[in-house]
Amino acid sequence: MTFRDPTSYTDLTQGRIKHIDFHIQADFSSRTLEIEATYQTQEPITGSLYLDSFKIELMEAHVNGRKLECEFDQSDETLGERLHLKGFDNDSSFTLKFRTSPEARALQWMNASQTLGGSHPFLFSQCQASNARSVFPCQDTPSVRFTYSAEVEVPRELTAVMAAEQAKGPEGSGLFIFNMPQPIPAYLFAIAAAHLEFRELGPRTGIYAEPEVIEAAAWEFAETEKTMVEAEKLLGPYLWGRYDMLVLPPSFPFGGMENPRLTFLTPTSILGTRGQANLVTHELAHAWTGNLVTNATWQDFWLNEGWTTYAEQRITEILEGKDAVDLNSVYDEKRTFEIIERAGVDSPATCLKVPKEGEGKDGDSMTSQLAYTKGSFFLKECEYAVGRERFDAFIQKYMKSFQFQSITTEEFLDFLKAELPEVFETVDVHTWIYKPGMPETWHRPQSHLYDEVEKAIADVAQGKLPTREQVKDWHRYQMLSFLQGLPRIIPVEVCKRLETILELEKRNDDHFYAYFYAICVASGYKEIMHRVEKFFEKIGRMLYLFPVARALIETEWTRDQARLLFERVREKHHPVTVNAMEGLLKRAGL
Ligand SMILES: [Zn+2]
Repeated sequence: MTFRDPTSYTDLTQGRIKHIDFHIQADFSSRTLEIEATYQTQEPITGSLYLDSFKIELMEAHVNGRKLECEFDQSDETLGERLHLKGFDNDSSFTLKFRTSPEARALQWMNASQTLGGSHPFLFSQCQASNARSVFPCQDTPSVRFTYSAEVEVPRELTAVMAAEQAKGPEGSGLFIFNMPQPIPAYLFAIAAAHLEFRELGPRTGIYAEPEVIEAAAWEFAETEKTMVEAEKLLGPYLWGRYDMLVLPPSFPFGGMENPRLTFLTPTSILGTRGQANLVTHELAHAWTGNLVTNATWQDFWLNEGWTTYAEQRITEILEGKDAVDLNSVYDEKRTFEIIERAGVDSPATCLKVPKEGEGKDGDSMTSQLAYTKGSFFLKECEYAVGRERFDAFIQKYMKSFQFQSITTEEFLDFLKAELPEVFETVDVHTWIYKPGMPETWHRPQSHLYDEVEKAIADVAQGKLPTREQVKDWHRYQMLSFLQGLPRIIPVEVCKRLETILELEKRNDDHFYAYFYAICVASGYKEIMHRVEKFFEKIGRMLYLFPVARALIETEWTRDQARLLFERVREKHHPVTVNAMEGLLKRAGL
């Protein structure tokens, strides 16, 4: 049977793209990229080639000096348009000229007024899961990998960056040249252009950000080189050259995106405490688990995120100690059960390998938080079964055996069975992977730091609030666990007092506010609505935005305002956030 990715029009029997040379011109006034791209294929193509595209305006297609026949012959709201190129005659290279749409769902074009500096525009991409096709026609499935080079032209005062090796363009010319010698799947293509500064952090590491935040960003992530050293010990040599980071505006939909060589980061991770260093640990770990060994389809997403969460915790254990990791694991456990409860205990969406439900075309709908937590809990069970030493040897061999490949869950399980057959004797692998919810027995995490929080939550239920002194030195995950564990509805007076006791303003952590505002909304704390609105407008990180959005939708007095509020802030958000929010509102009948 030929492999087929339901989220893509790709037909691998036609051939595979091997390399692309891009020439990209960014036009901020029309919010479009004008691109000429020359594609090389793995083997010569005869007849047809299908490429994924989304609202691409195609101007020209030619092969070997002759015009290539082409049409968009299928179209679907989720998949986009199938670009059918016809008339190949044993050709290994072709060129397309095209323009992206202002509605390209990977790209956010921000006005100067939406940036920190306020004087230059900001463009950035987010291609995961299936949005690369809105930037360039491609085989937009994680199972196809290609190398690329790119010349990027942007207005002179801006800096262009890509998730690629940078060969600097002539100073002040606005022309930047990149090369990506390692093969990547399309979803790891990434580009940004803005008024940026750069700070070196270590011999292989550095950070880009708007000048207003560069110092704070460089301080927050100053220890990245140290993290790299630990990551290499666990996962093997880092094969991507440099590791830099780019701080985006707050509308960035995620915490981080593991674009190779250049992680994209939310500014909500800059706390002034280095309290979210584990976010960078996570994105860096993806350089192996995800970018080096990649899920072949989005149904296998847990291979990317479960492994990365596992690796993140192993590295954090070295850098921050076991107590911090145990606490984090209990927090993850609570979240896992919360997600399962929301989805329904029998929901197929809670299987590690997401089954093909109905059409199964929407890659984003398969990328649930459960892939992270349940996936890492499963890998911990495998570790317990054979002991850490053997499991560590397995990790190194796994990375080496599949580097620069995209694999399915089944290929992973075959490898696991061949290398560590004992795992299958003690761990019910089939249930973990293919059954919904959590198995009945597993090593549930324990944490004395969490136990303290649990006691404080029980006290609140008895009407006794914690003291400022008591929570003053709490670890960030103790605060998160406390806020997560509180009843959804509490008296308004208690909301007010808690904000003071927890010193939320001083801590300046939007994740705390995400939980807090959700409680305030559910509890009928009306005076806080203008602050909730501001939060909704500013924060694009969906992990923070969605709990508040859900509270607005589920609470009677705010339900009718949810759609209005979203329409007011829609323009400020990335298309990825807008689509996800639309889905949430529509499912709620709003
Ligand atoms: Zn991740």
